[in-house]
Parts: sequence; structure tokens; C-alpha cells
Amino acid sequence: MKNRAVVKVMTPKRETASIASLMEETLRLLGEDPGRQGLRKTPERVEKALRYLTSGYGQDIRRVVNSALFSVKYDEMVIVKDIEFFSLCEHHLLPFFGKVHVAYLPQQRVLGLSKIPRIVDMYARRLQLQERLTQEIAQSIQEVLDPLGVGVVCEARHFCMMMRGVAKQHSGAVTSAMLGAFRNRKETRDEFLSLVRQNSI
Ligand SMILES: [Zn+2]
Repeated sequence: MKNRAVVKVMTPKRETASIASLMEETLRLLGEDPGRQGLRKTPERVEKALRYLTSGYGQDIRRVVNSALFSVKYDEMVIVKDIEFFSLCEHHLLPFFGKVHVAYLPQQRVLGLSKIPRIVDMYARRLQLQERLTQEIAQSIQEVLDPLGVGVVCEARHFCMMMRGVAKQHSGAVTSAMLGAFRNRKETRDEFLSLVRQNSI
């Protein structure tokens, strides 16, 4: 009775570095005063923004696609054009953004159309290279849907080029990934590219 153990639950003080605390330090190193009115909540805001902008790491293609695969007797090209995306370049952690055009040639199955922008977001919300983003979108659709081919074209503008004053005239970049029929058959690829070019940016 007397010597009862007293269990105290201690909430550990978070000494481990959080993005917010590192951000506070970054502000200091930039010559700012993190304590001033306008900046007081900035480290937390930056952390929240970064977590959101990299939330694609926590997702995987199977879960995104879920059960939105449908059997059909449709063998014409499916195109989803002008999918807006925003990403962060892995070299400077600055945004790059633009449009992605995705096409595939179905083989007995199609993917729910709304899933394609979600796949784009999943890969865009990571630290990226435009080239890899383009490839990953194409390859994941190939994997999950097993169509006759996939084509992806990505047009983007990079803040790391635009803001830092280097090669401004080349700040727009176009990348593409062509798999299966889009790689092997010129007519398929040309059909896709001409459809993308129609009233595109
Ligand atoms: Zn960059």
C-alpha cells in the first residue's frame, strides 16, 4: 500500500530537429529575425507546406488506382490532356509546374479517367526531375493497366531557371516518355503528338 509505484507519463520535450525548427534556424542564417511579427508562424507554415508538397511519398499506385479498372471492348487511344501539375525540383527545392498529357492504348481494360490526374499528383508531390516525373507516370500506368502502350508529354517551366536569371529563354522544357505501341509505332506516336498540339499551350 505504502510504496506504490507512481507512474508519471512524461511527454518528452521534442529536441529532435523538426523541419520547423530547422526553418527557424534558416531564417536566422539568412539574416532575418524569426521572432518578428510576420515570421513568427513561418517555420510551421513552411513545414506544413513542404509536407503537403511532398505528400506523394506516402502514396502508392495500387492504392491510388484502387478498383477503378474497367473491362471494356474499346481499343482506341484514350487521351487526358492539359493536366496541371506543380512539383519541386530536387536540385533547388524550387517549384516547376506545367501540364502533362497522358495517352494509352487499352487492351481490354481502361482506367477511370479521374485517376490519371491523381497519378500525376502522386509523382509530382515529391522532389522531382521533370524527366523522371514523366517516366514514372508512364511506367506506373503501364504497370497497373498493362495497355498496348503509354505516351506521356510534360511541358514545364522551372522557377530555378526563371528566378535565378540563368538561361531564362530556355525556362520552358518539354519531356516525353513513350512505351509499347507509342515507342514502336510511328502512327500511334504521331496521332498522340498531333492531338496534344491542338490548342495546347
Ligand atoms: Zn532546379
